[in-house]
Amino acid sequence: MTAARQRVIAALTVDFGLDATGKRIRPPRARYSCVLCQQLEGPVYGAELVAEFVAFIRTEHPAKCTARSSA
Ligand SMILES: [Zn+2]
Repeated sequence: MTAARQRVIAALTVDFGLDATGKRIRPPRARYSCVLCQQLEGPVYGAELVAEFVAFIRTEHPAKCTARSSA
């Protein structure tokens, strides 16, 4: 495996709320942490909101990120 040269600019964290056996023990949640502007988006809770958040935050946040140039 060849390691790609990449720079970490954000972390998307999703907690599915499952225990080791796969049983749901709490509602799923997600948050997004931008390394560039230090802003934390979320957390959001619940399957529907988490799915929506995960689908859009990686394009939504960069569009409004205060630390990025308009590239
Ligand atoms: Zn940002």
